[in-house]
Amino acid sequence: MHVRSVTVGADRVDVVLNVESAAAMRTSHDGSIVARAFDLLPGLADHRCANDDGRPFSEEIADTEVPHLFEHVVLELMARSGSPRTLKGETTWDFRRDGPGVFHVSLAYDNDLVCLGAVKAAARFVEYMLSGGDVPDVRAEIEALTALRARPSGRPT
Ligand SMILES: [Zn+2]
Repeated sequence: MHVRSVTVGADRVDVVLNVESAAAMRTSHDGSIVARAFDLLPGLADHRCANDDGRPFSEEIADTEVPHLFEHVVLELMARSGSPRTLKGETTWDFRRDGPGVFHVSLAYDNDLVCLGAVKAAARFVEYMLSGGDVPDVRAEIEALTALRARPSGRPT
């Protein structure tokens, strides 16, 4: 999965993602993805999700699009670093219009820097969930994101 672009809007951040392998487009293609996701971010189990059949994300996660997992990872990282848990995201796609494997993830934010930082960290975290390897340092990421929030906005240093 690759982040193709990130656009900051007035109240949302829009991310365009590309999942190269059609076989690896869903979380169900490898049972260890969900185990790694819950080990890394246990809070994902409590996420609500606005899917068609009203299932909680803890069930949805077993078989959903990888970019939808990414959306929830961003929201979890934002929440862990102080953003309201009521912030919502949305994952959509139109392969005919955009090409196969291209997804749009739209994220509401309360702090744009925290949201952008969470997008970057989430891309690395999801890569780990998909492929394993070195376990990311969640605590360090949360601390870095929380520090971004403390920065006065509009005054780059
Ligand atoms: Zn969802």
